[in-house]
Amino acid sequence: MLVGTTAALVVIVRVPEPVAPPRVQMDPPTPTATATATPRPRPRRLPKVAWRSSSPLGTPTSGRLRRGVRLPSRGAHFATRDPVRKRTPNRWWRRYGTDDLVRVLLRVTGQFGRAHPRAPRVLIGDLSRPHGGDFGRRYGPLGHVSHQNGLDADVYFPRRDRRLRAPRTPAQVDRRLAQDLVDRFVRAGARLVLVGPSLDLRGPRGVVMPYPHHDDHVHVRLNG
Ligand SMILES: [Zn+2]
Repeated sequence: MLVGTTAALVVIVRVPEPVAPPRVQMDPPTPTATATATPRPRPRRLPKVAWRSSSPLGTPTSGRLRRGVRLPSRGAHFATRDPVRKRTPNRWWRRYGTDDLVRVLLRVTGQFGRAHPRAPRVLIGDLSRPHGGDFGRRYGPLGHVSHQNGLDADVYFPRRDRRLRAPRTPAQVDRRLAQDLVDRFVRAGARLVLVGPSLDLRGPRGVVMPYPHHDDHVHVRLNG
């Protein structure tokens, strides 16, 4: 049996390799070729998360972030926005949080997206810098007092017109969807959820709080 097996293996090894077929041109170069090609949905390659166990050091207003995790620039249910350049996506170095924070953001936006398939993707703003620390005025017009140890994230309220942009006025905010987003972050265990004073969003006392400059986004803070 052993001899037979070896002989068979030799035969397999000696089989000449087939000539590789010419590579298929995936992106037809001319409009004519496109018209005749079978339409196929584009594969959506979503950036992956390099998970590692993070440590928030100090406090959100005076702290650092050890082994932070970078939130991808976009996902099936979210996009990111640079609050300084006012465009999507946010720059890579403004998207670091603890693994817990990134996990909560992915989970909440995923659940929200599945519950509201007609809503726009959730727009996420700043988290922390790669190693945390100061994220004040020199990083943007207003800067952040907190966002220093990977536990804070800004998430823009969904717009009534469903555009993937930050709302410019409270009237542009879809209050029902905004309240649902707030509720989901509370259920996910957020310690603090700051919302705009004009929006009349509700939540547990001491967790959901009105705060100036938050009429276009909710500020979520997790426990360290
Ligand atoms: Zn914030």
